[in-house]
Amino acid sequence: MPDTPLPLGSTIGILGGGQLGRMLAVAASRLGLKSHIYSDEPGAPAFDVAASTTLGSYADAAALARFAASVDVVTCEFENVPAATLEACSRVKPVLPGAKSFAVTQDRLAEKDFISGLGIEVAPYAAIDSLDELNAALARIKPPAILKTRRLGYDGKGQVMIRDRGEAETAWRSIGQVPAVLEGLVLFERELSVIAVRGRDGTLKIYDLTENVHQNGILAISRVPATNSPALLAEATYIAKSIAEALDHVGVVAVELFQREDGNRPRLIVNEIAPRVHNSGHWTLDACAVSQFENHVRAISGWPLGDTARHSDAVMTNLIGSDVEKWPTLSAEPMTSVHLYGKQEARPGRKMGHFTKLYPMS
Ligand code: AMP
Repeated sequence: MPDTPLPLGSTIGILGGGQLGRMLAVAASRLGLKSHIYSDEPGAPAFDVAASTTLGSYADAAALARFAASVDVVTCEFENVPAATLEACSRVKPVLPGAKSFAVTQDRLAEKDFISGLGIEVAPYAAIDSLDELNAALARIKPPAILKTRRLGYDGKGQVMIRDRGEAETAWRSIGQVPAVLEGLVLFERELSVIAVRGRDGTLKIYDLTENVHQNGILAISRVPATNSPALLAEATYIAKSIAEALDHVGVVAVELFQREDGNRPRLIVNEIAPRVHNSGHWTLDACAVSQFENHVRAISGWPLGDTARHSDAVMTNLIGSDVEKWPTLSAEPMTSVHLYGKQEARPGRKMGHFTKLYPMS
């Protein structure tokens, strides 16, 4: 990878055409860069805002090679990009973040081994490849516990709660008897996330700690500030920095955390890592001079990273399914920024947009 920044007018290739790809492409356009979106979804939301688009399979090596040849750098808006897809692109152009960030975060077992290998706490866990292993693990990690597929889970999908050891067989069948991890249920005070961006030269910047509320396994609300505790901020910053550096990550990385109180000392436990821009960082579009999307584009382009400081307090609320119908009312509210993703069908559980309300800095 050359050390010189990509020149103005260069093209960012984005694998994935959802709302994250759409917001990345908009951020790139503000910097005078072009985007080429590659997606297997006809009418993908990001197609609307990109200079070029390819509708193709993630298994089509020839189409991926043509896509990579047409851009200057390739990035991804979702973490479950198959390794072969990344390889097909990286034979032609740099792919950032690199393969390690995806290999670790695509597999919940590899991810937990990696995080605990850094001396950072995760929920108690065990690898599960059979019903016998699940029964044995439940003797150690007592219910309530959550059985999660190792691969391809998101927004609470591919996971089932086990409240009693008698539920083991039903749980094992319900996730399709595929390789999994059993995780002890963390009795958290609240959920937080930290969003970091790491440049090609290793410079690291971190956005303010965010508090998140989930409903049905899907992010509903994100709030900043989450804390005025310097100790908690320092701990979250240490976790994000250790993970980003150990992955040799380039671009935005989000770390989802559980906070527990241990006496007077807050304790942070990592739930999972997303090697990409993240829903809990959408508030940065409106409450920071430089958003997570722009900083991701800057990082992979070798540009100087932008300021991650906040100029406002903010509350971001997702518009899920039919919530999107509220857009006319929301649009008229003061200090409210509405973002709609251009998706045609408002299916239940589908992220259709979000809105951010800004408040003076507390
Ligand atoms: P995940 O898809 O693993 O991020 O899980 C989605 C949501 O389920 C999390 O944001 C938590 O609200 C909840 N959750 C997942 N794992 C655990 C756990 N080990 N303990 C408590 N809650 C969890």
